[in-house]
Amino acid sequence: MNDYPADALPPEDPHTIPELDGKSAPDSVFDLLVVGAGPTGLACAIEAQKSGFSAALVDKGCVCNSLYHYPSHMTFFTTSELLEIGDIPFPSPNAKPSRNEALEYYRQVAAFYKLDVRQYQRVECVTGADGAFDVHTIDRFDRSGVLHARKLAISTGYYDLANLMHIPGEELSKVNHYYDDPHPYFGLDIVVIGGKNSAAISALELWRHGARVTLVYRGDGVQPHVKYWIKPDIENRIKNGEIKAYFHSNVVEITPDAVILETPDGQVTLKNDFVFAMTGYHPDFALLENFGVEFSGPDKLPVCDPRTLESNVPGIYLAGVIVAGSRTNEIFIENGRFHGRQIAQALTSKLR
Ligand SMILES: Cc1cc2nc3c(=O)[nH]c(=O)nc-3n(C[C@H](O)[C@H](O)[C@H](O)COP(=O)(O)OP(=O)(O)OC[C@H]3O[C@@H](n4cnc5c(N)ncnc54)[C@H](O)[C@@H]3O)c2cc1C
Repeated sequence: MNDYPADALPPEDPHTIPELDGKSAPDSVFDLLVVGAGPTGLACAIEAQKSGFSAALVDKGCVCNSLYHYPSHMTFFTTSELLEIGDIPFPSPNAKPSRNEALEYYRQVAAFYKLDVRQYQRVECVTGADGAFDVHTIDRFDRSGVLHARKLAISTGYYDLANLMHIPGEELSKVNHYYDDPHPYFGLDIVVIGGKNSAAISALELWRHGARVTLVYRGDGVQPHVKYWIKPDIENRIKNGEIKAYFHSNVVEITPDAVILETPDGQVTLKNDFVFAMTGYHPDFALLENFGVEFSGPDKLPVCDPRTLESNVPGIYLAGVIVAGSRTNEIFIENGRFHGRQIAQALTSKLR
């Protein structure tokens, strides 16, 4: 039985593959245009539609582009009901759903609500003002386009821009800031940089698939906030010498065949084939600045009303992880998914 909300419009034929793109006339003026079709962006468009507004989304990649680029075999930290949006149940046979299940779920939700998602169109800049915004896009073939909207919700996430180390050799093709699949690294010497969840998970998975793994972290041990089921696993591998670890240490240079570290015992040169620098990511502050959004404090918190999520730019709302600036570990899918409702409520009082 489908426990779908009564106010959602079911598709005429649930097996029909929806035509997401360009449902509306090219010169349509949307009540709300959502920039970024991640879980938060989808929730924003759904809640706006449920409140009776016309909405569309634009994404530089596919629907849930960030999740699509997460490690292929990953399992979420969160149980599936905490990833639900639009009041659509997310059933999973697993305690924690996989990336594939989440992608399937968000595709189904987008189809169910017949969301108008303009995929593979990067937003470059916004002109106009509250009530009449023009959103300028560039597609995969460098063709420009313009979308029109009365209000904007920006939910561009943080996963596109890695925190760089700014060290010699970081630009080498063997240095990755995104971990995907362990298979290509079988039998090779790998350095994983970092001490949080992503570093621990990739180090463990690489080691379990036959790579020789060294973990390098500037902290004094695996970070205390690493998930309780991952932390003992990585600590025991390190204790047993199965994964070598250098703490209080920094990578100072990467060459085609080696990684050079500064450790408490002096400089160490490690033989190396590939590096995974799991040093975190940050929102595209330049894009937000370009929209006119202002920031406060060292964490670059974007200025926005916590009740409505409207930024200092009238008519531009912020949603999802970007609301926390560079504190990217404060807003997840779990809590960012409710931002859509706040914005829809604000639209109801402004546009009616
Ligand atoms: C490995 C990993 C595991 C995680 N596990 C969990 C978990 O278990 N539970 C949980 O709650 N959270 C988890 N998170 C965090 C969570 O995935 C993010 O906080 C969440 O995706 C943020 O949602 P969002 O919609 O704000 O941004 P995103 O999901 O990042 O979506 C942003 C979208 O904006 C698009 N975009 C960016 N710039 C532009 C532009 N200029 N023009 C057009 N489109 C643009 C991107 O392509 C992307 O599709 C995890 C994160 C990682 C990295």
